[in-house]
Amino acid sequence: SLRFASSSFKASELTIEHSGATKPKPDPSSLVFGKQFSDHMLTIYWSEKGGWEAPQIKPFQNLSLHPASSALHYSIELFEGMKAFRGVDNHIRFFRPMHNMQRMHRSAERSCLPLFDKAELLECIRKLVEVDQEWVPYSTSASLYIRPTFIGIEPSLGVTRAGQALLFVIVGPVGPYFATGAFNPVSLLADPTFVRAWRGGVGEYKMGGNYGPTIAVQDEAVKQGCQQVLWLYGDREEITEVGTMNLFIYWTTEGGEKELLTPPLDGIILPGVTRQSLLDLARDWGEFKVTERTMEMKELIGALDSGRVLEVFGSGTACVVCPVGSLLYKGKTYQIPTMKNGPDLAKRFHKELTDMQYGRKKTDWAPLV
Ligand code: PMP
Repeated sequence: SLRFASSSFKASELTIEHSGATKPKPDPSSLVFGKQFSDHMLTIYWSEKGGWEAPQIKPFQNLSLHPASSALHYSIELFEGMKAFRGVDNHIRFFRPMHNMQRMHRSAERSCLPLFDKAELLECIRKLVEVDQEWVPYSTSASLYIRPTFIGIEPSLGVTRAGQALLFVIVGPVGPYFATGAFNPVSLLADPTFVRAWRGGVGEYKMGGNYGPTIAVQDEAVKQGCQQVLWLYGDREEITEVGTMNLFIYWTTEGGEKELLTPPLDGIILPGVTRQSLLDLARDWGEFKVTERTMEMKELIGALDSGRVLEVFGSGTACVVCPVGSLLYKGKTYQIPTMKNGPDLAKRFHKELTDMQYGRKKTDWAPLV
């Protein structure tokens, strides 16, 4: 009989194998990002012949992969980064999780990996968080980091679409980004010789291949006494992103208007969930101009020289917002007055989002797990 490959796995077919013992939970104050994992994981296998298999939650364990797996050779790999938060009411919440599912779906399409139903994946992740709910820190400055991952596992060295794939999700507790609770500004290296993404490339997708090559540049920034990289693009030195965050500039325009500016989603920017949330909030407030447009380095330097810059900050799941304090560009250090200006706007965004995430403010952006 004809067998049609299922167009998606189904959360209703999920099986759960509980781990016998639970690992000791680390103290939330001693958490190092990405080094601690919970007791369980989610795996979902796919093959061209058989389609999607039933999702499985099972004890956290090593993967067994054929050494010719395409993920290991050609970076057929993509991932997501999202969190679950334990609120002041002890309920656990996601933050705009369908945005992550949509972004993952787009990354899968671009990677020629099989597509899936986004709501079914979220329901499987919800179940995993439920099984490991004790791993969601009892803290309003920590959270459970969720790492959905999708890899090609076809055991073949041909550079072709993967005929076998594995979608898996691992989770682990993470601590506060700002150790003391106070905002610490970061210093940036802006060197146009290094490029993170380019038009026609894949910078707008969350593929592992975009990240490995940035490590040497990050090391170079540290060597030059900076903490992170300001990624520039092209001969006009367009400002794109900062480290693994989107970038925002709050300034007074030459016309004297207050404006919040971020680069547009023109192919070289990772479409951050936090970025979208800050834009949505600021437009809803309607208190200042909100603009998505390309900005060149010379425009930022000009605005810094004429004292029009109020705040520069990065945005991302890790920190919500991260103030920028200085910039090393062509051998000269430019001070950015973000901290001197509060930073009022960055703090307001931080409070608004964390109030939603920890259940202090009612919103449909933070659905219960
Ligand atoms: N840019 C890059 C390159 C990133 O890796 C991330 C983290 N996903 C972001 C921006 C911020 O995205 P988000 O707000 O969804 O965490």
